[in-house]
Amino acid sequence: MFVLAWAFWRFVDGIIEAFGGTTKQRRNRAAPMKLVRDPVCGTFVAPGESFAFRTGGETHYFCSVECRERFRKSA
Ligand SMILES: [Zn+2]
Repeated sequence: MFVLAWAFWRFVDGIIEAFGGTTKQRRNRAAPMKLVRDPVCGTFVAPGESFAFRTGGETHYFCSVECRERFRKSA
């Protein structure tokens, strides 16, 4: 009886771990994604999904073409 209960809870723990593990992994995978700040409007954007503008060896990222153009004109 004891062994059966132990085996049952080990089984349940395994399921919880399996589900918890995948959600944790998903969260961890999303977390290291570096966000950069749009210097024009202050919005945080992901470099892969933003509009980049390279100037003087530096790359700036913008949330929109409008912000990039505003920065380009002011620079
Ligand atoms: Zn912006």
